[in-house]
Amino acid sequence: MENRCTVCSTAFVLVAIGALNWGLVGLGHFFERNWNMVQLLLGRWPQVEWAVYIAVGIAGLFMLFGKNCSCRKKPEEVYRSTA
Ligand SMILES: [Zn+2]
Repeated sequence: MENRCTVCSTAFVLVAIGALNWGLVGLGHFFERNWNMVQLLLGRWPQVEWAVYIAVGIAGLFMLFGKNCSCRKKPEEVYRSTA
């Protein structure tokens, strides 16, 4: 988790938001509530809401397939410049 680059950190946060939100959506159905936080927060701007879902999806794909990012490599593989 340490020393992640901005892209990987952002992707992680988005995936975490998506996972929590999706969990709340499922749980909310059992209580007949809408706990879709993304929709509750951004429902007034549907396009923004959809964009968040797309961003979460892209972030998920990045988490799955974006393993070539330099921050994911083992320390000995990465040349860390001190400059
Ligand atoms: Zn990275």
